Amino acid sequence: MNRSAAQVCGRFAPSPSGRMHLGNLWSCLLAWLSARSAGGRMVLRLEDLDPDRCRPEFCQQVMRDLDWLGLDWDNEPVWQSRRSHIYQEYFHMLEQQGLIYPCYCTRNQLLAASAPHRSDGIAVYDGRCRSLTAVQRQELAAGRRPAWRIAVPSEEVGFDDLCRGHYSHRLDTCCGDFILRRSDGVYAYQLAVVVDDALMGVTQVVRGSDLLDSTPRQIWLGQQLGFATPEYAHVPLLLAEDGRRLAKRDRDLELGQLQQQYTAPELVGILAHLAGLIPEPAPISPADLVPLFRWDKVPKDDLTSPKLI
Ligand code: GLU
Repeated sequence: MNRSAAQVCGRFAPSPSGRMHLGNLWSCLLAWLSARSAGGRMVLRLEDLDPDRCRPEFCQQVMRDLDWLGLDWDNEPVWQSRRSHIYQEYFHMLEQQGLIYPCYCTRNQLLAASAPHRSDGIAVYDGRCRSLTAVQRQELAAGRRPAWRIAVPSEEVGFDDLCRGHYSHRLDTCCGDFILRRSDGVYAYQLAVVVDDALMGVTQVVRGSDLLDSTPRQIWLGQQLGFATPEYAHVPLLLAEDGRRLAKRDRDLELGQLQQQYTAPELVGILAHLAGLIPEPAPISPADLVPLFRWDKVPKDDLTSPKLI
């Protein structure tokens, strides 16, 4: 895909479910460098859709942390929790295309129907509620409120990732019909992210490789809504020193703790060195890294953080 530099628009899309950890900073730094090194814009969206996990004070904290690190953005921040009416509109467009159906499966039924598994251990939905009759739906509706799924075709969807090269998978066997609205009425991440990226003019999505297998379904969903497909770069995950996935709930390498021992240029230097941009982990600002950034320098496999705390 050939875009002129002025058109690149990258984004930060943090989930304010806790304080950011080093892995979040790593993804944010690479997203910012990728957009800025192309002379592009950067926008911020707070992915606070899930009222059970997100708290307003973490939104403010995310913005302070990005600012502390020297990463800036060009828009008035967008809060997903204030945009349900927009997601509703696009949900209805998909409904009108006949793609949405109610799913009455319980958690246990979903677990029981769990083969085959995707690589991340989450079951591919077997589509059992797709072909319910109107009468069956009525009966089930008396017992529980449904979640809403979108019916995917048996299609292979692929793309050229800026970091990892070509990636593709079959929607029906690797992903299955996925949820766009939960039974409590909350619109799902998969819908919100596609709608928001398009409406915010995002042309480049840089994020952790844990989201790689969401991308084919997001590309396909965007196509159903008539959106242009952004470019994608899935960056390797930064693992804890002992090889574990970093988790906000465990407060692993959390910025609050790191800030007590490191300055922002020191942390940026450590990350830039891991990204292959500088030969030693010496202090540096994000702005000074802009001319050094190139995707072919960035490693493709997951990385282990050095001992920092
Ligand atoms: N909000 C997600 C996260 O913080 C990122 C979603 C995305 O980049 O599409 O993990």
